[in-house]
Amino acid sequence: MSKKSKKDKDKQLRTPIVSVLGHVDHGKTTLLDKIRKGRVTAKEAGGITQHIGATEIPIEMIKNICKDIWRKEVELPGLLFIDTPGHKAFTNLRRRGGALADLAILIVDINEGFKPQTEEALSILRTFRTPFVVAANKIDKIPAWQSPGFVPFLKSYSMQEDIAKNRLDNKIYELIGKLYEFGFSADRFDRITDFTRNVAIIPISALTGEGVPELLLVLVGLAQRFLEDSLRLHVSGKAKGTILEVKEEKGMGITCDVILYDGTLKVGDRIAIAMRDGVKVTHVKGILKPRPSQEMRLESKFRSVKSVVAAAGVKLIAADLEGVLAGSEFEAIESEKDIEEFRKRLEKEYEEIEIRTDEE
Ligand code: GDP
Repeated sequence: MSKKSKKDKDKQLRTPIVSVLGHVDHGKTTLLDKIRKGRVTAKEAGGITQHIGATEIPIEMIKNICKDIWRKEVELPGLLFIDTPGHKAFTNLRRRGGALADLAILIVDINEGFKPQTEEALSILRTFRTPFVVAANKIDKIPAWQSPGFVPFLKSYSMQEDIAKNRLDNKIYELIGKLYEFGFSADRFDRITDFTRNVAIIPISALTGEGVPELLLVLVGLAQRFLEDSLRLHVSGKAKGTILEVKEEKGMGITCDVILYDGTLKVGDRIAIAMRDGVKVTHVKGILKPRPSQEMRLESKFRSVKSVVAAAGVKLIAADLEGVLAGSEFEAIESEKDIEEFRKRLEKEYEEIEIRTDEE
């Protein structure tokens, strides 16, 4: 490999990981379904999600959803959405494994406002310093609101009667006030110039799709501008990931659904997995990758691959997975020294989490 192409490869942008958080029934599942379906196809998109999974939305699909408002080219390959079934699983993952998501969407039913799980989600986002946007959902339920369908929010807003506009404005102010109580400066997205300092509130309807174009556009913009520098959104070095679920599969034995968040993982790689009482070393026998924009738990939609580049949700087949717990970290290793470094990294991360949680 020539020097230049190696350098280019080192700089490959990885897919940012986005989590959707919020109070039960505020619309997480509906929003993910809407994003998966896109704007034109009415095809069944895989139904309600009850387990932890991930969906990769390629940039072309995002562009298509945002086509009325898309302004400039971006380098990102797409976004990987993590879908969490309720809040607890996410909290456990975060508490155990450190920062799983690069970005988050905090979804709030605009008519109901903040609820206990909204507040809990906000505390977690603050603890882990995860950049996030607020999706103020269910605007179609605002009395007198007339939904024109899957269009940008600003277009829908401009078509509304004053009474509906005022109701929405008031609800947004309430959200701004609540976010302020938690120490965040927030505003409606179209009044924000610096998205890295202010939390953007994007009014949406996960049911009709209104505002979903802007939601995706703001996320892509945030990922591109903010994460590229501060969190080094480049694929680099060793494969690193978090285990979402461990389960027995017919004919495969025990397998793991994982999110690979850095590096490239290959069949045959040795990996170290964090256990409650130390580190387990095994090797990757198979990698099953979901097809783009399909939910990763639908087995028939998997295909076997030789390697996978972060970020991605994949199923791993490996020897000796007994006792591995959901939420555990893993890392590709080549030597004893790597195992020791992995152990040290985990210790450090746990300490940091404890310190930050204590700061709360
Ligand atoms: P989750 O528990 O956060 O995943 O919430 P769901 O996505 O399951 O949504 C809960 C209920 O709210 C379902 O009946 C959805 O159809 C409904 N819902 C979600 N988003 C919207 C929306 O934007 N508008 C309306 N009218 N209903 C919605």
